[in-house]
Amino acid sequence: MRIIEGKLTSPFGTRIHPVTKEKSFHNGIDIACPIGTPVCAPGNGRVEQIFSNEIGGLQMIISVSNERYGMAHLSECVLNEGDTFLLGEKIALSGNSGRTTGPHLHLTHKSGGKWVSGKYVGGNFIDPVELWEKGL
Ligand SMILES: [Zn+2]
Repeated sequence: MRIIEGKLTSPFGTRIHPVTKEKSFHNGIDIACPIGTPVCAPGNGRVEQIFSNEIGGLQMIISVSNERYGMAHLSECVLNEGDTFLLGEKIALSGNSGRTTGPHLHLTHKSGGKWVSGKYVGGNFIDPVELWEKGL
């Protein structure tokens, strides 16, 4: 089982942005998948934040141990802010919200920071591809 089933369409790192056509840093990976594909928790953790904006659409930020994961372009969040979850539990459904060229999940992993009164401070985005490839 993986965080999400689909096809890796855009790797982590510097790339030419598919919409703006400009060189930019991609802080996660893109997994192409049909709208409504289950997003499964990469570990036991907690939903920290759910929000929406023009670029990332509906987004969810979760914490697992001391790590932070983000999911963007969702169609639905199955859980609410503050809810806890277990490894492999369905936490959201993928979608096509925000600025996209097609339905996909944008998955980020921020590591090395710490949680201070509910806010993640410091740390760096790292490539989540290994985590995604090896599965849960
Ligand atoms: Zn992306």
